Amino acid sequence: MRIEKIALNGFRNYEWESAEFAPGTNVITGRNAQGKTNLLESVYLLSAGHSFRTRFDRELVNFEYSSADILAEVQSHERQQTVHIVLTPGQTKKIQVNGVKKKSAELSEIVNTVLFSPDDLNLIKEGAAQRRRLMDEAISQIRPRYAELLSSFNRLYEHKTRILKDWREKPSLLETLDEFSDGMARASAQLIRYRAAFALRLQEAAAPIHRDFSDNGERLDIRYQTVSTVRDVYASAKEIYYDICDHQERHRQAELDAGQCLTGAHKDDLEICINEKSARNFASQGQTRTAALSLKLAEREIFLKETGEYPILLLDDVLSELDERRQEFVLNRIGGGQTLITCCEDEGISQRTGGKVLFVDNGRIRG
Ligand code: ATP
Ligand code: MG
Repeated sequence: MRIEKIALNGFRNYEWESAEFAPGTNVITGRNAQGKTNLLESVYLLSAGHSFRTRFDRELVNFEYSSADILAEVQSHERQQTVHIVLTPGQTKKIQVNGVKKKSAELSEIVNTVLFSPDDLNLIKEGAAQRRRLMDEAISQIRPRYAELLSSFNRLYEHKTRILKDWREKPSLLETLDEFSDGMARASAQLIRYRAAFALRLQEAAAPIHRDFSDNGERLDIRYQTVSTVRDVYASAKEIYYDICDHQERHRQAELDAGQCLTGAHKDDLEICINEKSARNFASQGQTRTAALSLKLAEREIFLKETGEYPILLLDDVLSELDERRQEFVLNRIGGGQTLITCCEDEGISQRTGGKVLFVDNGRIRG
């Protein structure tokens, strides 16, 4: 799949601007703060319906504008499709595909992206939230139902957390606690099944990439970790639900004492091992970077298997963070699909990739 054209009106620092992309590699270059990441963000929005930098749509609208418009032509599933998103602060966003109204979660049926930014290079060493985000973003695109499930889980989690925080001042809140706990256990059971299946595919796709990439053929293992009482993450949602209820009952008092949720899929993680040792605790910086790259490139392979097309790969400033050997590895691995790479002007990356160069200068795009 690929994006052919995009037109932005009132999006971030763009007033009225458009760009055309080549099918393979596109290098988006320019000085700092000119709009390179903003352009990538607009493409990401076409697949997710939201930004990767903010939860607030109003931040995406140009300071001088009352709404932002993103109009794009994409080639996907062997046809030309038009995606149109209008963001107006205070209103729900309007999304249309080929003139037909759609929900955010439906966008992933048309456009898929895999985003890779310098933060992702610390994926292995960071807290569990980063690794959950990797799972959530990927599964949401592959399984639209997952995105809905996750947002209802998050609502339950926020609500239950509020009860656990405020019950001392307002004891009547406890009347609804069990209801929220039960809802969280049910939603967790479903999330766990999706995540367990994804983690297995990630392992299958990432291990051979990491073996090729590491100097001495290191072995990469990915293990999904969830609520400790869950005996089999591949079991039916019902069995998983009962196991979670068990954990919940045992931790009910502890949750009230601590004022926070202790049971549920919100604490899930991926344990990453290199040569059977925890990468988080024992791997060198180089090793963890290599593993992070392997995971991200594996995500791309999973999309290909799932949809029959490579997703659009968005590399935001990531190449400049890598040594030459790792840059070469990434550039050699990304053939077959479309890639948008942002980098600063003076890094010489544009010449090395041989792709189309788009030059961004203060919200204008030349190329
Ligand atoms: P760098 O090389 O430093 O990463 P960049 O080219 O990626 O720079 P962007 O992150 O795209 O830069 O941001 C460009 C500019 O857009 C920033 O100066 C920022 O202030 C501006 N900007 C962000 N949001 C808005 C908005 N809603 N309205 C107008 N300008 C905005
Ligand atoms: Mg940037």
